[in-house]
Amino acid sequence: MNIRIGHGYDSHRFEGPGPLILGSLDIPHEQGFSAHSDGDVVLHAVTDAVLGALAAGDIGEHFPDTDPANKGQSSDAFLRHAMNLAAMRGFRVGNLDVTILAEVPKLSPHKQPMAEAIAELLCVDVSHVSIKAKTNERMGFVGRREGIAVMASVLMMGDVN
Ligand code: MG
Repeated sequence: MNIRIGHGYDSHRFEGPGPLILGSLDIPHEQGFSAHSDGDVVLHAVTDAVLGALAAGDIGEHFPDTDPANKGQSSDAFLRHAMNLAAMRGFRVGNLDVTILAEVPKLSPHKQPMAEAIAELLCVDVSHVSIKAKTNERMGFVGRREGIAVMASVLMMGDVN
């Protein structure tokens, strides 16, 4: 079996009114994200992790923020595109592990529904998707509540070499 690991990171700045789009969910918050797409920083990190496992570049190469077609785009489409690439190359997801760094909003009630939404996009059972959330102990841009950062690791398994 061919095994690949991928890593993704993204950060977005809070700007304008909420809700926040995070992990494909609408999360009530007084602020949203400043972004060209829907600003789903979780799906952007996951998409980059999948692309990374495939050595297929990064999300900015596939969906440039200079392209008007990507304006307000649902980030589900970015992840679906990366998963289509994976399928074409004979790869499927083994498991995904995500860490969200956010001082606000409180994410614990949203972790399970987020795992379920992402599992569906990745075509795996929810038991293969881990969503972890933590504050940054009031340090740095996350600690100052300027935005949210996300790190994601994915294992991809291929049946061909
Ligand atoms: Mg992004």
